[in-house]
Amino acid sequence: MISPQEVLNAASKKKNENYKFRRFLKNHADEKELDELFLKLHNELFNDYDCSKCRNCCKLFHAEIPLTEIERDAQYLGMTTDNFIKKYLQKDEYGIEYITKNKPCDFFVDNQCLLGECKPKSCANFPHTNQPERLWSLLGFMENVSICPVAYEICERLKQEYNFK
Ligand code: SF4
Ligand code: SF4
Repeated sequence: MISPQEVLNAASKKKNENYKFRRFLKNHADEKELDELFLKLHNELFNDYDCSKCRNCCKLFHAEIPLTEIERDAQYLGMTTDNFIKKYLQKDEYGIEYITKNKPCDFFVDNQCLLGECKPKSCANFPHTNQPERLWSLLGFMENVSICPVAYEICERLKQEYNFK
Protein backbone atom coordinates (compact mmCIF):
# COMPACT_ATOMS: atom_id res chain seq x y z
CA MET A 1 0.00 0.00 0.00
CA ILE A 2 1.26 3.47 -0.85
CA SER A 3 2.14 5.66 2.14
CA PRO A 4 -0.03 8.65 3.18
CA GLN A 5 2.91 10.96 2.42
CA GLU A 6 3.30 9.66 -1.15
CA VAL A 7 -0.31 9.41 -2.28
CA LEU A 8 -0.87 13.01 -3.44
CA ASN A 9 2.20 13.03 -5.67
CA ALA A 10 1.61 9.52 -7.02
CA ALA A 11 -2.03 10.29 -7.84
CA SER A 12 -1.13 13.53 -9.59
CA LYS A 13 1.25 11.56 -11.88
CA LYS A 14 -1.62 9.20 -12.69
CA LYS A 15 -4.23 11.92 -13.09
CA ASN A 16 -4.75 11.46 -16.86
CA GLU A 17 -4.68 7.67 -16.59
CA ASN A 18 -7.21 7.75 -13.78
CA TYR A 19 -9.62 9.98 -15.69
CA LYS A 20 -9.29 7.66 -18.71
CA PHE A 21 -10.08 4.77 -16.38
CA ARG A 22 -13.13 6.65 -15.11
CA ARG A 23 -14.34 7.02 -18.70
CA PHE A 24 -13.64 3.34 -19.33
CA LEU A 25 -15.72 2.33 -16.30
CA LYS A 26 -18.55 4.65 -17.34
CA ASN A 27 -18.65 2.96 -20.75
CA HIS A 28 -18.00 -0.65 -19.79
CA ALA A 29 -18.72 -1.41 -16.14
CA ASP A 30 -21.88 -3.07 -14.94
CA GLU A 31 -23.27 -1.01 -12.05
CA LYS A 32 -23.99 -3.93 -9.73
CA GLU A 33 -20.71 -5.71 -10.42
CA LEU A 34 -18.77 -2.48 -9.85
CA ASP A 35 -20.49 -1.91 -6.48
CA GLU A 36 -19.64 -5.48 -5.46
CA LEU A 37 -15.99 -5.02 -6.43
CA PHE A 38 -15.73 -1.73 -4.57
CA LEU A 39 -17.27 -3.25 -1.46
CA LYS A 40 -15.02 -6.33 -1.57
CA LEU A 41 -11.87 -4.21 -1.97
CA HIS A 42 -13.01 -1.69 0.65
CA ASN A 43 -13.59 -4.43 3.25
CA GLU A 44 -10.39 -6.27 2.39
CA LEU A 45 -8.13 -3.21 2.42
CA PHE A 46 -9.62 -1.27 5.34
CA ASN A 47 -9.76 -4.43 7.43
CA ASP A 48 -6.10 -4.23 8.36
CA TYR A 49 -5.42 -0.55 7.71
CA ASP A 50 -4.79 1.74 10.68
CA CYS A 51 -6.34 5.11 9.75
CA SER A 52 -4.85 6.73 12.87
CA LYS A 53 -1.45 6.49 11.16
CA CYS A 54 -2.76 8.40 8.12
CA ARG A 55 -5.48 10.98 8.77
CA ASN A 56 -4.96 12.46 5.31
CA CYS A 57 -8.72 13.05 5.13
CA CYS A 58 -8.40 15.47 8.07
CA LYS A 59 -5.36 17.13 6.50
CA LEU A 60 -6.25 17.32 2.79
CA PHE A 61 -10.02 17.35 2.49
CA HIS A 62 -12.81 19.88 3.08
CA ALA A 63 -15.54 18.01 4.96
CA GLU A 64 -19.11 18.82 3.96
CA ILE A 65 -21.36 19.57 6.94
CA PRO A 66 -25.07 19.82 6.09
CA LEU A 67 -27.30 22.24 8.02
CA THR A 68 -28.93 19.28 9.77
CA GLU A 69 -25.57 18.44 11.37
CA ILE A 70 -24.33 22.00 12.01
CA GLU A 71 -26.71 22.72 14.90
CA ARG A 72 -25.75 19.49 16.67
CA ASP A 73 -22.01 20.13 16.15
CA ALA A 74 -22.30 23.71 17.45
CA GLN A 75 -24.10 22.46 20.56
CA TYR A 76 -21.44 19.81 21.07
CA LEU A 77 -18.79 22.54 21.18
CA GLY A 78 -21.01 24.83 23.31
CA MET A 79 -21.30 27.46 20.58
CA THR A 80 -24.13 29.19 18.78
CA THR A 81 -24.81 27.95 15.27
CA ASP A 82 -23.92 31.35 13.83
CA ASN A 83 -20.57 31.49 15.60
CA PHE A 84 -19.81 27.92 14.58
CA ILE A 85 -20.47 28.73 10.93
CA LYS A 86 -18.48 31.98 11.08
CA LYS A 87 -15.48 30.38 12.75
CA TYR A 88 -15.21 27.02 11.03
CA LEU A 89 -17.18 26.89 7.78
CA GLN A 90 -17.41 28.35 4.28
CA LYS A 91 -19.68 27.71 1.32
CA ASP A 92 -18.54 25.22 -1.32
CA GLU A 93 -17.57 26.31 -4.84
CA TYR A 94 -21.22 26.25 -5.93
CA GLY A 95 -22.29 28.41 -2.97
CA ILE A 96 -24.71 25.72 -1.80
CA GLU A 97 -23.31 23.47 0.96
CA TYR A 98 -21.19 24.35 3.97
CA ILE A 99 -17.71 22.84 4.05
CA THR A 100 -14.87 23.13 6.56
CA LYS A 101 -12.80 26.27 6.08
CA ASN A 102 -9.23 25.11 6.40
CA LYS A 103 -6.86 22.32 5.50
CA PRO A 104 -5.77 20.71 7.76
CA CYS A 105 -9.21 20.80 9.34
CA ASP A 106 -9.64 23.10 12.37
CA PHE A 107 -11.22 20.23 14.27
CA PHE A 108 -8.13 18.07 13.80
CA VAL A 109 -6.25 18.34 17.09
CA ASP A 110 -3.78 15.83 18.56
CA ASN A 111 -4.57 13.39 15.76
CA GLN A 112 -8.25 13.34 16.84
CA CYS A 113 -11.47 14.97 15.67
CA LEU A 114 -12.70 17.54 18.20
CA LEU A 115 -16.26 16.74 17.14
CA GLY A 116 -15.93 13.21 18.54
CA GLU A 117 -19.06 11.18 17.96
CA CYS A 118 -20.58 14.20 16.17
CA LYS A 119 -17.97 13.85 13.42
CA PRO A 120 -19.65 14.76 10.09
CA LYS A 121 -21.14 11.89 8.07
CA SER A 122 -19.00 12.96 5.10
CA CYS A 123 -15.91 12.19 7.21
CA ALA A 124 -17.22 9.04 8.85
CA ASN A 125 -18.01 7.60 5.41
CA PHE A 126 -14.85 8.82 3.67
CA PRO A 127 -13.74 7.67 1.05
CA HIS A 128 -17.30 6.34 0.43
CA THR A 129 -15.97 3.21 -1.30
CA ASN A 130 -18.44 0.95 0.55
CA GLN A 131 -21.46 2.99 -0.57
CA PRO A 132 -23.78 1.93 -3.44
CA GLU A 133 -24.06 3.57 -6.86
CA ARG A 134 -20.29 3.93 -7.32
CA LEU A 135 -20.70 4.27 -11.08
CA TRP A 136 -22.32 7.67 -10.48
CA SER A 137 -19.69 8.90 -8.05
CA LEU A 138 -16.51 8.16 -9.98
CA LEU A 139 -15.49 11.81 -10.27
CA GLY A 140 -15.47 12.19 -6.49
CA PHE A 141 -13.71 8.85 -6.17
CA MET A 142 -10.90 9.97 -8.51
CA GLU A 143 -10.48 13.09 -6.36
CA ASN A 144 -10.31 10.99 -3.20
CA VAL A 145 -7.64 8.78 -4.78
CA SER A 146 -5.19 11.66 -4.33
CA ILE A 147 -5.97 11.89 -0.59
CA CYS A 148 -6.60 8.37 0.64
CA PRO A 149 -4.02 5.57 0.29
CA VAL A 150 -6.77 2.94 0.50
CA ALA A 151 -8.81 4.63 -2.26
CA TYR A 152 -5.61 4.82 -4.35
CA GLU A 153 -5.06 1.08 -3.89
CA ILE A 154 -8.71 0.31 -4.69
CA CYS A 155 -8.33 2.24 -7.95
CA GLU A 156 -5.17 0.31 -8.88
CA ARG A 157 -6.81 -3.05 -8.05
CA LEU A 158 -9.90 -2.13 -10.08
CA LYS A 159 -7.66 -1.44 -13.09
CA GLN A 160 -6.32 -5.00 -12.74
CA GLU A 161 -9.81 -6.47 -12.32
CA TYR A 162 -10.96 -4.79 -15.55
CA ASN A 163 -7.67 -5.42 -17.41
CA PHE A 164 -7.38 -1.68 -17.97
CA LYS A 165 -4.08 -0.75 -19.65
S1 SF4 B 1 -14.41 17.24 10.93
FE1 SF4 B 1 -13.19 15.80 12.12
S2 SF4 B 1 -13.11 13.91 10.94
FE2 SF4 B 1 -13.80 15.57 9.57
S3 SF4 B 1 -11.95 16.33 8.56
FE3 SF4 B 1 -12.29 17.58 10.39
S4 SF4 B 1 -11.10 16.59 12.00
FE4 SF4 B 1 -11.32 15.11 10.35
S1 SF4 C 1 -9.99 7.07 5.31
FE1 SF4 C 1 -8.27 7.09 3.91
S2 SF4 C 1 -7.42 9.18 4.05
FE2 SF4 C 1 -8.73 8.87 5.84
S3 SF4 C 1 -7.33 8.14 7.43
FE3 SF4 C 1 -8.20 6.31 6.47
S4 SF4 C 1 -6.74 5.77 4.86
FE4 SF4 C 1 -6.29 7.89 5.48
